[in-house]
Amino acid sequence: MAKPTQFAIRLLRWHEGIDRDLPWKKNRNPYQIWLSEIIMQQTRVAQGTPYYLKFVSEYPTITDLADAPEDDIMKLWQGLGYYSRARNLHHAAKTVRDEFDGDFPTAYKDILSLKGVGKYTAAAIASFAYGLEYAVVDGNVIRVLSRYYGITDAVDQSSTLRFIQEKADLLIKGSDPSDYNQAIMDFGALQCTPKSPNCAICAFEDTCTAYQKELVSIIPTKAKKIKKRTRYLHYLILEDSAGRVIIHHRREKDIWQSLYDYHCIESLTDTQLGEEEIRKDVLDNFGLEVESIIYPTKAYKHILTHQTLYGQFYQIKVDQISNINSPYLNIDQGAIPKYAMPVLITNYLDDTKKDKLFS
Ligand code: SF4
Repeated sequence: MAKPTQFAIRLLRWHEGIDRDLPWKKNRNPYQIWLSEIIMQQTRVAQGTPYYLKFVSEYPTITDLADAPEDDIMKLWQGLGYYSRARNLHHAAKTVRDEFDGDFPTAYKDILSLKGVGKYTAAAIASFAYGLEYAVVDGNVIRVLSRYYGITDAVDQSSTLRFIQEKADLLIKGSDPSDYNQAIMDFGALQCTPKSPNCAICAFEDTCTAYQKELVSIIPTKAKKIKKRTRYLHYLILEDSAGRVIIHHRREKDIWQSLYDYHCIESLTDTQLGEEEIRKDVLDNFGLEVESIIYPTKAYKHILTHQTLYGQFYQIKVDQISNINSPYLNIDQGAIPKYAMPVLITNYLDDTKKDKLFS
């Protein structure tokens, strides 16, 4: 067997005594490791941990998760964002139930074949659950290795990523894969941090190229700037005097797919909708007459990675709501809390205490 690399020896020595007390650590259960990895993508530990605990408690096995209705999973995920993760989680759980007899796959290529599982997640599961020698390369590891090797090429280019993955695959050789992967991720999270890495007291202070060449502040570099799009969403909350309300199931390929919101008119500006426009829209879409409109007094801002959203909510009384077709639902106001809704909507509901009034 290969001897551990000098890099790994120093890294693991640094890691001794580091104990990030996270509920999924030291866990060898592949289902729970997978859950934690998916939940923690693009998510802070403090935000993700309660979700992880809720999922493990609600769905103790992957078959429990596979058998659950999608609406229940989306509701449990509500507030965590990046909702495609929840849909992929459900899809992958069903694959494991149907194609692997409910046993989480043990081979790297089978793990990688699950929906929503990329190379990083597959390596994390393979190494933490099964001790297989696959090096994780996530944002933390990219930062550490690009600084260590003084890589000034953009790390969002596939050729640079391939180079970093090759280095990572060499560095892990001869070490316990689980310990090594945990150590390098912790090193990126705690020591070689994005903004203020602790270079003066670092295990690699004499071998780190970026530190030696005073390049730490400019590495890693990125080529692409994220272009943000601004969207103005005008939500019509249609209610009748019997307490029925119309909600919308978001089936289209857009943000918040599979969640619920209200009927929405999107526009290019934040200018409020006119009364005639609202009356015509409600009549055309639902065959309903508008009785009264309470106009929004403010816009709710919500920032996503690629979009900035401004939501305005119009409370509209209509005549009796009866036959409503998919993707719309006609529900009792008291049932609203049962449906998974995006944070933009729940912020509005919390503000107006509508959910409490309704229940
Ligand atoms: S010397 Fe600084 S940049 Fe280099 S590995 Fe250590 S903390 Fe990171």
